[in-house]
Amino acid sequence: MRRIPAPALEEYLERSRRACYLCEVASGRDARHALVYEDDLAIAFLNRFPTLHGYVIVAPREHREQVTGDFSEDEYAALQRVVHRVGEAVRRAVPTERLYVLSLGSQQGNRHVHWHLAPLPPGVPFERQQLAALSWDDGVIDLTPAERDELAERIRQALRAG
Ligand SMILES: [Zn+2]
Repeated sequence: MRRIPAPALEEYLERSRRACYLCEVASGRDARHALVYEDDLAIAFLNRFPTLHGYVIVAPREHREQVTGDFSEDEYAALQRVVHRVGEAVRRAVPTERLYVLSLGSQQGNRHVHWHLAPLPPGVPFERQQLAALSWDDGVIDLTPAERDELAERIRQALRAG
């Protein structure tokens, strides 16, 4: 996969402090993100700065910040059903040795709760797996708009088939 440098940290932080990009994606105001799934509760879209091919973000539509504290158990379980469905679609859409699922974010700039669904392809040496596979140090995967649309469509098809 072609790689380009990751966004500059200051620029990325400045942008994420100006507005909540997840609220903008959820409301349809930011069309740069290729949606793969949406329902009343959650959205899922391709990570714009992927370190692995097929990397998807799942987020609740509503702005919530604490990954467990801002949800009832039932709300949390409902979101995890979306994570499971989208995760299975990602695994069917791209070769996946292991699917990583993480919730990160920061109160200093990226507050809206979200889950990273990052498929590790087969054959990656152990020392380049896990957090090393997610690091921006080696840049991010550069997809053309056509490649991005094709990938999103493949995941949407896998969701429909599932
Ligand atoms: Zn938000």
